[in-house]
Order: sequence, then C-alpha cells, then structure tokens
Amino acid sequence: MVKVAELLATGRTMSFEFFPPKSDEAERALEKAVGELAPLEPSFVSVTYGALGSTKERTREVVIRMNAEQAFPCVAHLTCVGHTRSDLVALLDEYAANGVENILALGGDPPADGSDPGGDFTYASELVELVRAHPGGFGVGVAAHPEVHPRSSDRSGDRERLARKLQDADYGITQFFFDVADYVRMVDELEALGCTTPVIPSVMPLINVAGVRRMAGMNGSKIPAHLEAELDRRADDPDAVVALGVEVATQLCSELLEAGVPGVHLYAMNRSASLRQIYDNLGLHRGR
Ligand code: FAD
Repeated sequence: MVKVAELLATGRTMSFEFFPPKSDEAERALEKAVGELAPLEPSFVSVTYGALGSTKERTREVVIRMNAEQAFPCVAHLTCVGHTRSDLVALLDEYAANGVENILALGGDPPADGSDPGGDFTYASELVELVRAHPGGFGVGVAAHPEVHPRSSDRSGDRERLARKLQDADYGITQFFFDVADYVRMVDELEALGCTTPVIPSVMPLINVAGVRRMAGMNGSKIPAHLEAELDRRADDPDAVVALGVEVATQLCSELLEAGVPGVHLYAMNRSASLRQIYDNLGLHRGR
C-alpha cells in the first residue's frame, strides 16, 4: 500500500470518508456503498473514529479490512483525548502488523458535560509525535479548521499552532465549510507563517437538514444565508434536500479544483449516490 504523501506528490487526490457502522444492517450498507464507489477509483479513503474511542474496535476492523481488500489505501482516523499512551501504541502496533500505513492524528473532543476525560494527551500535536516515533513508519495527516477551531479564542494563535502541527505532519485535511474564501484565506495565512504543507479541503454533500445544522454548529462551520433559506424551503422533501446537497457540493468542488487544491476529500456518509452524481456533474473520470 502507499502513503497519502506519495499520492499527493504525484498529483491531485480525490478521497472519500466513511464512518464505522453501528449494526449489522449498517455494515451491509457500508459494504454496498464501498462496492459502488470503488469503480470511481479514489486515491485513498478514510474511516472516522468515535468520540473518546467509542468506535475503536469497529474503526480498526473496517480500516484493516478495507485496506487489505481494496486497491486504494485506507487512512485510520485516531483521536488522543481520553486515551493512555499504551492504548494508542497497542492500536498502532495492530495497524502496523496489518499493513495499515496511514494515520490521521486528531485531538478529539473532550466530553460534552465538561468532565475530565483522563488519559495522557490533550492535543493532536502530541499524537503526531507518538505516531512519528512508532516503528510502523506511518504517514501522518492532521486536521485543519478553515473557519478557526471552535475552541480557539484568537485567530492568530490558532493559525500559529496549526502551522506548527502541519509542519510535523505530511498533509492536512480540513473540516467541511461552505465558502471557498475561508479555505483560501487559511492557506494564505499558513503560507505567511512559512507553512506550505498541503491541506486537502473536505466537502460534505449534505443529506438532511437537522444533520447539517447540528454538525455545522458543533464544528463552527457557517451555513450561508442563501443555503439556510434553501434548507428551510426543502425541509419537508428529503429527496430535494439530497439534491441540494449534490448541487452545493458540486459547486464547491468545482471552485476548489479551479483554485488548484492538492486534493478534495468527500464525505460519503456511507452512501454512494451523492458522490457518484457529483463525479458525473464534474465530468471526473475514474481515478482522477
Ligand atoms: P488540536 O490540533 O489538538 O486542536 C484543538 C484545539 O486546541 C484548537 O483550538 C487548537 O488551536 C488548540 N491547541 C492545539 N495545541 C495547543 C497547545 N499546545 N496549547 C493550547 N492550545 C492548543 N473527531 C473524532 O472524534 N473522530 C474523528 O474521526 C474525527 N475526524 C476528523 C477529521 C477531520 C478532517 C477534522 C477536521 C476533524 C475531525 N474530528 C474527528 C474532529 C476533531 O477531533 C475535533 O475538531 C477536535 O476538537 C480537534 O481536533 P484537532 O485534531 O484539530 O485538535
């Protein structure tokens, strides 16, 4: 298998993100989606990790299986808040033993009730250091927040910390956003700090109104007024909401590709239809 940095070095990547299934039925849906998306020949895929390790086993199983069975590498998301060093090293050992070569090193969120999560880590940069020191020789990506991380009180401090984190990593992947100007501004601010590590923008084709509002609120992603109005207008028509998600994501991808981004990371949300439609709309050929 190959590392994401090697793929980025050869040209623009197109990648898809999945989440670990919580039931047998959800597992079958994921398998179906992966089977239907594989012909698009993504450069790589990634699988998320539940808050505070809540999906640790499922993420591990899906990553190891997809990485072994598919023609593209699978990146394992890994969060460090609330984990002990030995827990994380054990998981990295298992990934290395099973041929997984790519880790997305994340902070993760502390418990919503404000309680102390315990564990040995506070910030993603500490996990980057741990993964780098592991004999598995993993490729390491990190998260970036174009609209500034929701827990950051000052923009310049957030950007300086992000630049330092990116300089120790191979690449970044962003939180989703709806205004390309936010991504471009972040890249400019990083460059002004001397950081040129590639940062791949994420695009989320929304599929339901409550879901996008909840996720945007949690991640500090602004929903523009015109999109809010469209969401209100289509709220009682699920198919029209999915179609809106495809339309908005197609436009975002098109502007990002035009801007010369290093890659685009699309949230598949364990379904295939929206991504296949976006590929058709953009006239993207397989494997590009
Ligand atoms: P960090 O880089 O640690 O940053 C968190 C905050 O701490 C920021 O405000 C930062 O400015 C600040 N900070 C960093 N270092 C320091 C320091 N030394 N001193 C003071 N402040 C500091 N969550 C999951 O639970 N599972 C997932 O699979 C997952 N996947 C994600 C994928 C992507 C692409 C993105 C963008 C996010 C993902 N998240 C996931 C969410 C992520 O865990 C949260 O956004 C989390 O709040 C921060 O993660 P981070 O890696 O950016 O953390």
